[in-house]
Amino acid sequence: MKKLIHDLAFEEISDLMKEMGEPAYRAEQVWQALYRRFANSPDELTTLPKGLRQRLSEKFLFQPMEEAAVQISSDMYTRKYLFRLPDGNTIETVLMFYERRRSVCVSTQVGCAMGCPFCATGMGGLRRNLSAGEIVAQALYMARWLGSPDDGSAPVKKPTTLTHIVLMGMGEPMANYNNVWKALRILTDKRGFGLGARRITLSTVGIVPGIRKMAKEPLQVNLAVSLHAPTDRLRNKLVPINRRYPLSELMDAVREYIRLTNRRVTFEYALMRGINDDLAQADLLANLLSGMLAHVNLIPLNPVPGSPFQPSNPDRARAFLERLQKRGISATMRLRRGIDIEAGCGQLRRRVIEGMEISKH
Ligand code: SF4
Repeated sequence: MKKLIHDLAFEEISDLMKEMGEPAYRAEQVWQALYRRFANSPDELTTLPKGLRQRLSEKFLFQPMEEAAVQISSDMYTRKYLFRLPDGNTIETVLMFYERRRSVCVSTQVGCAMGCPFCATGMGGLRRNLSAGEIVAQALYMARWLGSPDDGSAPVKKPTTLTHIVLMGMGEPMANYNNVWKALRILTDKRGFGLGARRITLSTVGIVPGIRKMAKEPLQVNLAVSLHAPTDRLRNKLVPINRRYPLSELMDAVREYIRLTNRRVTFEYALMRGINDDLAQADLLANLLSGMLAHVNLIPLNPVPGSPFQPSNPDRARAFLERLQKRGISATMRLRRGIDIEAGCGQLRRRVIEGMEISKH
């Protein structure tokens, strides 16, 4: 199988050009075509001579993803894609429009090994890691679509740009650390895509060694931790990795991260009816985070069909939020986006795999 060109860092493209007997400036031309003009076929590398384009096309793949399905929310603010990769595996990528943001939620693995019982992706287990290029390609796909001429298909006027990336799709980014960080270095490279690291958020379920390693990375990427429970007893059930990295260790690592980076950490907390949403639990959460440079993002759970985990009712959710705020914790409730299109991670994939009917693109 051909290698994906987006798997190469700039230095690797430079080495390749050297090997191919090309002048050094060709690396920059390739890089700019890929990451400024989002070329997705060798024919679009128009600044290169034809012969070189031909040789590159023999070695490399320029577009690894085929659109298997797309669902668009009725307000057009959320577009959820199911992509088929060359090996037949499928991944989900979601593009979300906010007031001034165009944000893509990318997957980092095919499936996930973390086994959170409320999550559609977790139910299927892990198939494999995505390569750096496969992670990069999801952002490029959206950047290319956003940069295309206006055709009324977006809630804002196109062409426009991608402003944010969240690593919050299928998979646990810390379990695919090297490929994820290679992808982030490619996407933040100023010679090409050049997205500011502060516009990127990596969301982890709480892999402690990964958090400690991330604290020392030069790129100022934001950290979000999927907490979902304020006690080990409950978190062991909702987020099984907690048995390996209990709250005390997780909080130590987060404190260390804040100390080294001086950056605020977001804690994601999916409110589940009757499970983690009473006021006593809000108090325990406030105790856990008290004095920390932290923000709590409450998320009404996206229910997986047939699952016992259901979203909290809105009054309960509001009371939980108010209790945190009264206790001095910075907290907000995330808008429930894409609820009419099953935007919870893994849900579209599961539905397609199960062969149920969806709107084909
Ligand atoms: S919630 Fe995230 S970490 Fe947990 S199983 Fe789903 S994808 Fe994996």
